[in-house]
Amino acid sequence: MNEERIRNCNQKPMFPSGNYILYWMQAYRRFDSNHAFAYAVSLAKEQNKELIVYEGLRCDYPWNSERIHKFILEGMYDNQTRADELGINYWSFIESKSNPARGVLKEIAKNAVAIVTDDFPCFIIPEQINKLSEKINCPLIAVDSNSLLPLSRFERTASAARILRIWIHKEFLKGLPKFAKPKWKKEDLLGLHHQTKPPHGFGLPKDLNSFLLSLDFKEQVPPAKGVKGGRTEALKILKTFVTKKIQNYETGRSQPNPPEITATSGLSPYLHFGHIGIEEIFQSVLEATSQGKWNPERMSHQKPGDRDHFYSESSSTNHFLDELITWRDIGYLFFWKDKPNHINLEHLPDWVKANFRKHKSDTREYLYTLEQFESANTHDELWNAAQTELVKTGRMHNYMRMLWGKKVIEWTKTYEEAFSILEHLNNKYAYDGRNPNSYTGILWCFGLFDRPWFPERNVFGNVRFMSSDSTKKKFKMKSYLEYIGELSENSDSLFP
Ligand SMILES: Cc1cc2nc3c(=O)[nH]c(=O)nc-3n(C[C@H](O)[C@H](O)[C@H](O)COP(=O)(O)OP(=O)(O)OC[C@H]3O[C@@H](n4cnc5c(N)ncnc54)[C@H](O)[C@@H]3O)c2cc1C
Repeated sequence: MNEERIRNCNQKPMFPSGNYILYWMQAYRRFDSNHAFAYAVSLAKEQNKELIVYEGLRCDYPWNSERIHKFILEGMYDNQTRADELGINYWSFIESKSNPARGVLKEIAKNAVAIVTDDFPCFIIPEQINKLSEKINCPLIAVDSNSLLPLSRFERTASAARILRIWIHKEFLKGLPKFAKPKWKKEDLLGLHHQTKPPHGFGLPKDLNSFLLSLDFKEQVPPAKGVKGGRTEALKILKTFVTKKIQNYETGRSQPNPPEITATSGLSPYLHFGHIGIEEIFQSVLEATSQGKWNPERMSHQKPGDRDHFYSESSSTNHFLDELITWRDIGYLFFWKDKPNHINLEHLPDWVKANFRKHKSDTREYLYTLEQFESANTHDELWNAAQTELVKTGRMHNYMRMLWGKKVIEWTKTYEEAFSILEHLNNKYAYDGRNPNSYTGILWCFGLFDRPWFPERNVFGNVRFMSSDSTKKKFKMKSYLEYIGELSENSDSLFP
């Protein structure tokens, strides 16, 4: 295990009279290709203790909905199956009205020698880690499985992707980072599964659909048709991507298209919930697009910062890996370094803030409320299409996401109101919401990681402007708009 990935959160000594090492699975919800699980296994072997994996699901997280709950639960059923195959003592706990979650983790922590968890830098997880670390008598060790490189390697957050790209490439040139064990075998885990049984109230519901109906969610968002969470589905999507789509990624990525024909992977929800890991995506993509078996020596290794040639001989693969690594990491690093509890526009660079001070009183040609935005009720056909896609499917094509964010800035009274509308809609409806990239994606629309653009515009000043007219000129929108039209027709109303 790479020491750079490990953070002892409370500096408490091991509790030797405890019965087990507890892996508290919070963000990277899988066993294979998971540094935190691998570390928990090594600790259990070293301490000669049982290993227990605890995966919980409460009802009270922000933006909770049937859509998100179902996706996570589907992942938990997959984890139960894999735990049974491997002989892992897997304790799932699903909160319900008659089965409250309060105090459960603290209770099972009492018998732990040490607790290992995922060091995810965003949403409710950092606070949950801090809270538990104060309440327990054993060490709480958070392990960074966020990306290919341990985030602690970077001294500071990057102000632009081109800068982080160079830093990352330089690190790769020093040597490929050590990957977590890609696939466990039962024999690797022998001796870790003993007799301890979970307390009363643990286990997965027998009938998922009727269980979901019994819960009261804050947000009324139903699961999207045809979307399934979990590792089995994630690996299927990865396979389709590497066999059918990756070759077109460079030229096709930005073209808004229905999910079956888009060149993008659709993996972000599975990455977000940890049903799949970045290391296995990296490896699969390189193997699929290299002639013959891929190995690290085959990385093309041009000069650091060369987006088109760095990882592979295939330009499309390089473009995909740049999104997967540079653009994804820039968001994670932003949270990792600053550890903000609450993100707002104060996190924008000074040049953007100066522009907003100058343009805050500019006249807005259109103004919409949250309700009008949410029900896709603006004058703009493309914007409404993007919002409909989000509501109905829990995803939004990346190019449309940029346009969607820019237009909300243009059509609200204040920049702050625009931010809070975007945060709410993205995190309420998107499967991949509540992620570092949700916030940095939205803040990118406000100028984060970007440069000043000219000419200076109304409302935006020198922040990059995007328009629906130029999107229509740039891309063939027919098949995307037809797909959205069908989504709307196939349901009674836009609201779920
Ligand atoms: C306003 C706005 C909001 C966004 N909200 C989110 C969000 O809530 N969650 C989220 O994961 N991403 C978000 N993004 C970034 C990006 O749009 C999505 O990651 C991408 O569209 C996911 O689709 P995909 O998995 O098919 O990506 P692919 O193109 O197949 O890329 C593979 C992976 O690389 C990463 N990636 C790709 N593009 C970006 C990008 N521009 N920035 C960061 N990472 C990227 C993602 O992890 C993605 O799954 C947002 C962008 C904007 C402009």
